[in-house]
Amino acid sequence: SQRALQDIRDARPITRDGTEIELFANIELPGDTEQALANGANGVGLFRSEFLFLRDEDDLPTEDEQFEAYKQVAEAMHGQPVIIRTIDLGKDKIPKWQEESDAPNPALGLTGIRLCMAETQLFRTQLRALLRASAYGKIKLLVPMLTHVNEVRQTRRHLEEIKDQLRGEGIAFDDGIELGGMIEVPAAALAVASFLKQLDFISIGTNDLIQYTLAVDRNDDSVSYLYDPLHPAVAQLLHHVIRTADALGKPVSMCGEMAGDPQLTLLLLALGLRRFSMLPAQLLKVKRRILDADLTQLRGALSGLLAAEDADAVRALLAEIAVLKP
Ligand code: PEP
Ligand code: MG
Repeated sequence: SQRALQDIRDARPITRDGTEIELFANIELPGDTEQALANGANGVGLFRSEFLFLRDEDDLPTEDEQFEAYKQVAEAMHGQPVIIRTIDLGKDKIPKWQEESDAPNPALGLTGIRLCMAETQLFRTQLRALLRASAYGKIKLLVPMLTHVNEVRQTRRHLEEIKDQLRGEGIAFDDGIELGGMIEVPAAALAVASFLKQLDFISIGTNDLIQYTLAVDRNDDSVSYLYDPLHPAVAQLLHHVIRTADALGKPVSMCGEMAGDPQLTLLLLALGLRRFSMLPAQLLKVKRRILDADLTQLRGALSGLLAAEDADAVRALLAEIAVLKP
C-alpha cells in the first residue's frame, strides 16, 4: 500500500544480508528532480536531454538555454551524481525542426550518437553547455546508441577540444567530468570489454537492447507479445555485461524500464546488478524488493536462471525464489 511505501522512503536500500544498492531516477525535464528527491533517489541516473529539443518551438534550444537546464538539475541534486545523456533523437523521437526522415528503418538509421556525429555543431553546442554546467554539481555524461568504439574516441576528441576552448575563455568546468556509454545495442553488449576500456562507466538501456536482440520494434503493437525481457538471451547478455564491468572495476548501472519493474528486481540482483535507475514513481516499489532480498539465495539461483530454456522457465524460477524468500 502507499502507506507502507512511504514508510520505507527514508530506509537505505540495503539487502537482508547487508549489501547496499544504489537507486537513481530517470528524468525528462529539469522539474522532475523534485519527484526524484521526494522518492529518495541517490541521484539522477538518466536525464533524457533530448526532451529539451522536443518542445513546441521551431528552433533548437540555445547553448545558454541548455546550460541553464543542466545547471538547474545539477544544483537541485545538491552534489549527488547527475548523469545527463547526450541527445538521443532520430529514432522514435523526432523534433519539429528536424526534416521529415525518409530513413527506410529509423531504428537502424541515424540515431543517438550517430546523429550527433553527423551533426557535429549540434553535438558540440550541447557538450559546451554540459561542460559549463559541470561547474555547478556532479554532472556525468552518457552517450546513447554506441555501436563502434570509435564513437567513444570521437566523443572524447570533441570534449577535449571544447575543454581547451573553455580554458582559453576562462570559463569554469569540471575537468574530471566522467564519460559513460549506454549499452543498448547487442554488438556493444557482446564487445563491452573494449567499450569499458574507453569509458568511465556504462549504463544498460534494456528498452533498446531487448528491441535489437529480439528483433521486435518496441513501438509495434502487432509484435509486442514477443517483446519479453525474460527471454534467456537478454539475461545472458545482461550477465555478460555486468560481469565484465565488475571484472574491469568499472561501474555498471541499468536505466531501461527493466530496472524499474519490481517483478524483475530479484532477477537483476541475481545477475549482479547493484545500480538501478528508473522513473521516480517506481523507486519505492523496487526498494521494497531490495529490502526483502537475500543475495546469498540469489547467487544460488543464478546458474538455474541462466540455463533456463525459455522465458516461462525463467518466470517459474523467479516465482519459486519469491515464494522461498527468507
Ligand atoms: C533504453 O533504451 O533502455 C533507454 C533507457 O533509452 P530510451 O528508452 O530513451 O531509448
Ligand atoms: Mg535507448
